[in-house]
Amino acid sequence: MKVIDSLENFKTLELMEKANKIHLKRHGKDITLERAVFLSWWCDKGDCAFCYMSTQKPKIKDPLKARRSINSILAEAELCKRLGWNIEFLSGGYGSFSTSEIKKIASKIYEITSHPVWLNTGISTNLAEYGEEIVGITGAVEVVNPKLHDKICPSKSLEDIENMLAMAGDLGFKKAITIILGLGETPHDLEYLFEMIRDGGIQRITFYSLNPHPGTPYENQPSPASLYYAGIVAAARITFPDLEIICGTWIDNLANIGPLILSGANGLTKFPLFKMFGTRYGKRVEEEVFWSGRNLKGTFSDYNLLLDNSSTSPELDSYVKRYIDKCLNNKSLSE
Ligand code: SF4
Repeated sequence: MKVIDSLENFKTLELMEKANKIHLKRHGKDITLERAVFLSWWCDKGDCAFCYMSTQKPKIKDPLKARRSINSILAEAELCKRLGWNIEFLSGGYGSFSTSEIKKIASKIYEITSHPVWLNTGISTNLAEYGEEIVGITGAVEVVNPKLHDKICPSKSLEDIENMLAMAGDLGFKKAITIILGLGETPHDLEYLFEMIRDGGIQRITFYSLNPHPGTPYENQPSPASLYYAGIVAAARITFPDLEIICGTWIDNLANIGPLILSGANGLTKFPLFKMFGTRYGKRVEEEVFWSGRNLKGTFSDYNLLLDNSSTSPELDSYVKRYIDKCLNNKSLSE
């Protein structure tokens, strides 16, 4: 595959240039900010080698207590609406909420944001219960090389994920996958990935770079190199011009953003929103997008939008206030 050869021969700039041209022609200049809204800190599986939740499972005595309150989840949705952030998906470990509970939460978020919700809530065969509140289903593939996958994520088989996505497509939902770079994959594994995207009719992909969590086997591993990450994204954009590509980068890797955008990212994710809002880190995201020549949809710094409560339902007021106070605290610390 030509893009893999280019990647292996360090022709990353060539890949990025080509990807950028394709991207601008097909997708224009808008860059979205995406927020994964977590439902719980509990995961029944708890054995994926890289995952923060795998370090928490032994510490959680009562899984019900690891669930977030519904109003806190809805308050987060309200703030995403105010700030122009997309809700990337509702996310949670296995076994934290039932299908009917997830449906109820998604329906309320749909009411708040007027956008149906993506789900990333594990492998499920109950998708037929969902309706207009859901737009798409995400398969958390993480690593697509089958041997590596079985080793790193022993309890969620690729086959089951693919079957779920096929069912999602049959029911009329969109389909997405998530991939983490830096788990030991090589550029050649793009062959597996591109086959999955093509054969599975995947419309959206979220790339993350490894965030080495203490207590996991990856704690002393580096996150992937910025140009490797950008080269992979460029290869995906060149191969799939219409694919929606979201790229995750943590607060300590904000300099990745410009290269990722020039490689074909549509959106950015994985930020600790309330910790970064109004700070130099949030403003740095805005600067990265600006100097990529793109238009940022949403804000990391506009307090007027944050405080605009014109359409918030009163029962969420106290929950919304908690998040706003965190953001205002950032402001006072930076003055
Ligand atoms: S299934 Fe998901 S939440 Fe659970 S351990 Fe694996 S990656 Fe973490």
